[in-house]
Amino acid sequence: MTQYKHAKVPAGADRIEASGGKFSIPDHPVIPFIEGDGTGPDIWRASVRVFDAAVQIAYGAKRKIAWMEILAGEKAFKTTGEWLPAESIEAVREFKVAIKGPLTTPIGGGFRSLNVALRQELDLYACIRPVRYFTGVGAPMKHPEKLNIMIFRENVEDVYSGIEFRAGSPEAEKLRSFIEKEFSEKIRKGSAIGIKPMSPFGSKRLVKMALEYALKNNKKSVTMMHKGNIMKFTEGGFRDWGYEVARDEFKNLVVTEADLNKAGSTARADAVILKDRIADSMFQQLLLRPEDYEVIATPNLNGDYLSDAAAAQVGGLGIAPGGNVGDEAAVFEATHGTAPKYAGLDKINPGSVILSGVMMFQHMGWNEAATLIVKGVEKAIAAGTVTYDLARQMPGSTEVSTTGFGDAVITGMRS
Ligand code: NAP
Repeated sequence: MTQYKHAKVPAGADRIEASGGKFSIPDHPVIPFIEGDGTGPDIWRASVRVFDAAVQIAYGAKRKIAWMEILAGEKAFKTTGEWLPAESIEAVREFKVAIKGPLTTPIGGGFRSLNVALRQELDLYACIRPVRYFTGVGAPMKHPEKLNIMIFRENVEDVYSGIEFRAGSPEAEKLRSFIEKEFSEKIRKGSAIGIKPMSPFGSKRLVKMALEYALKNNKKSVTMMHKGNIMKFTEGGFRDWGYEVARDEFKNLVVTEADLNKAGSTARADAVILKDRIADSMFQQLLLRPEDYEVIATPNLNGDYLSDAAAAQVGGLGIAPGGNVGDEAAVFEATHGTAPKYAGLDKINPGSVILSGVMMFQHMGWNEAATLIVKGVEKAIAAGTVTYDLARQMPGSTEVSTTGFGDAVITGMRS
C-alpha cells in the first residue's frame, strides 16, 4: 500500500480490488473524496450525510463507507504548496472510486485545469452525464420530462489535450512554417494554433462504453454526435470508428440506422440502433425531439457544450451530476464549478454532488442506496423544499439552505 503524507487511510476498511476488468467491492470500502473549493465544503457537508444515510437505510450495519480526504485545489495549495499533489492522484488509482467537489482553475498556477489534469493522469476517458427531469423543477421547456439521456463525452483527447501555441510565439511560428513548407497549407501569420488529436483507439473505446451501457440498460439507440461534415478526419473519424467498433464487436447486438432503413433488413428487433447526427443538428434535435434520443456518444468539446445545454433544458446546473470513468478508476463530480460568491453561505444547491453519488453507487453495484437517494431527491423537490436556484423558478416553494436540502433528501428517503 502507498504511504501517504497528507491523507489518512482509514483503519479497518478495505480497498476496492480490480481484476480482468471486474471490480470487487468490499462492504467497508475506502472512498477518497476531494471537498472542493468555493462552495465545495458547504456541498460536501450536506452530501456526505445523504450518502451515509442511504447506505445505512439500505444495508444497516452490513455496509459503510470509510471516507478518506485527499487534497486538491486551494486547500492542497495552502497545505502542501501544490495544486494537485501526486499522492492524491495515487490515492484515486489505488482505491479506484472517488468523488469530488468543484475545483478552482488556478490562474498562472502552471495548470490548464486541475480537472483536466486528473482526467488525463488517470486516463478517465469517458465523462458520463445523465440528464433527466425532476417533477416540479421550473424548466424552460414545455415538456422537460421528455428529455432523459445519458451523454458519453470523450474526456482525454480532442482540443482538450492542451497542445496549443500562443499567437506570435516562436512555437506557433515554427509550426506555421512547417505546415506551409511540408503540406503547402496556408495559415495566417501571427495566428494562435491548437492541435486536435483524435484516435481510433480513443474514439472506439468511448463508443464501445456507450453501446455496452445501452445494451445493459435496454436502451433503444446510441447516437454519435460529431462535426464530421467539416472536420472530416477527426470528427468524421470518430463517426467511422464508432461504426467500425459496432460492426466488429457487437455483431447482431447493434444495427446501424442506415442498415435498418434498407429494405429487407434482418436486424434483430431487440438490437440497439446506432445512428449519427451532425453536432449543430443535435442541439436542435434535443430541443425539438428529445424523446428520440437516449444515449449520446461524442468527442470532448461537443460533449462539454451539449451537457450544459441539456442540463439547462431540465432546470439547470444545480441538479447536473457527472462521472469521469476509465478502465482502472472513476471520479464522480458535479457538472458545475465552485460558484465562489456563495462560498460559506450554506446556500448553494448540493443536488449535483448528491446525484453524482447516485452514479458512484451504481458504479459500485450498490443500487439500493442509489435508488433511495433518487427517491429522496424526487420527494424533496416534489414537496417544494429546494435551494434558492430552484426556488426562484418554482412559485410557492420553500427555500432551504444547503444543509436543509440534504435533510429534506434524507427525510424523503425514509418516507
Ligand atoms: P460556476 O461555479 O458553475 O457558477 C456559475 C453560476 O452557476 C453560479 O453563479 C450559479 O448561478 C450557478 N451555479 C453553479 N453551481 C450551482 C449550484 N450547485 N447550485 C445552484 N446554482 C449553481 O461557474 P464559474 O463561476 O464560471 O466558475 C467558477 C470556478 O469554478 C472557476 O475557477 C472554474 O474554472 C471552476 N470550474 C470548476 C469545475 C469543476 O471542478 N468540475 C467546473 C466548472 C468550473 P447564479 O449566480 O445565477 O445563482
